[in-house]
Amino acid sequence: MFAAKEGSTLQIHNKTAASEVLSELIARPSPTPPGDSVSVAQYIADFMEPFGFKTELVAAPEAPEKTSVVATLDSGIPGPTIMLHAHIDTVPVGAGQAWHGDPFTMSRNDDKLVGLGACDDKGQMAAMIVAACRVADAKTLSAGRLMVVGAADEEAAGEFGTGYMLEQQYFDKLDFAIIGEQTHNRMALAHKGTYRTRLAIHGRSVHATNPDRGVNAVHAMFRAGVALEKYHAELSKRPHPLVGTPTCSVNIVKGGQAANLIADYCEAWIDRRRVPGETTEAISAELTNVVSSALQDTNVTWEFPETYAMPAFEENKRNVFTETTAKVIAEVAGLSEEPVGYLPGSDAKFFPQLSHVTTVVFGAGSYEQAHAENEFVSAFELEQAADILEQLIPRVLSAKT
Ligand SMILES: [Zn+2]
Repeated sequence: MFAAKEGSTLQIHNKTAASEVLSELIARPSPTPPGDSVSVAQYIADFMEPFGFKTELVAAPEAPEKTSVVATLDSGIPGPTIMLHAHIDTVPVGAGQAWHGDPFTMSRNDDKLVGLGACDDKGQMAAMIVAACRVADAKTLSAGRLMVVGAADEEAAGEFGTGYMLEQQYFDKLDFAIIGEQTHNRMALAHKGTYRTRLAIHGRSVHATNPDRGVNAVHAMFRAGVALEKYHAELSKRPHPLVGTPTCSVNIVKGGQAANLIADYCEAWIDRRRVPGETTEAISAELTNVVSSALQDTNVTWEFPETYAMPAFEENKRNVFTETTAKVIAEVAGLSEEPVGYLPGSDAKFFPQLSHVTTVVFGAGSYEQAHAENEFVSAFELEQAADILEQLIPRVLSAKT
């Protein structure tokens, strides 16, 4: 047996290795904001080096606390490069959340491993570390290169984590990427993206005793809200085969100054979830159209002063990587080989621009537990994810491409 570190009692081949690594990752807080992931990245580097991985801490100069880690094991024999990638930051503990215990001390409740980041995404990271170290220890890497990446900043869209590493060409020699997120250990080949915009409506304020002299921005927002709800219903007629339908919802509305004053201003945040194939331009044009038709008979002026867009992800390639992944999932876990969709966004969105990389999303648990109080991952699924990855790595690297 191979102890991970001198003085460590952790046996990488035991049946609970991933949960033990998970408890160490949870014990090193890394909420975004502020996104300080230095201690998690350092822990992973220290853990993997004794297994023969070359490790590097990576951070953009303008955000040194948002530190990622890259661990590489090279067989020295030509072959493909596979990357296991998970993010090492978490969301913060939410205001008003009622955790039963300390979110940074992992607890166990039957099959549930509870702690901040248990499924999103430190559990995925733990399964990847354990699988990669087992492969290194058993010397089953017969060709190619294995990369394990713990990425910073994913919860803030990844610009200083995966985005920075992409820019610095860390992924130029990559052939196959597994992005760890919660898919109940199925292979996901698509996820939704986001388009978020603020609608600002300007009216004219007068005394509420004679509203018709003014222009009521709140009333105009009601009309826009009804139109956006109808638009959401229309979007349900455009399903994507893996991730379902695009959606539209209004979740923040602010406006008005006093109950006896006609409102001269109202604003709302619109959340438009997009499916693969929908462009930013098309979504923007549709929303403009919906709002302008709804407000055409009013005297308000309006604009979208702020917009954030995050692309959806879809892998269209079917090759030896996707086939082998599906087969190993079926063999090890008895799960279906059919691909699924993953509903939230992930760092997978960065990879379709690299045409030489085939990307899948894979991992234990469900997104429904992510960003939630008493976040948990199933211990059974977590160890199963490690077993799947352990089998998958040598199979994929020795596959003929
Ligand atoms: Zn995540």
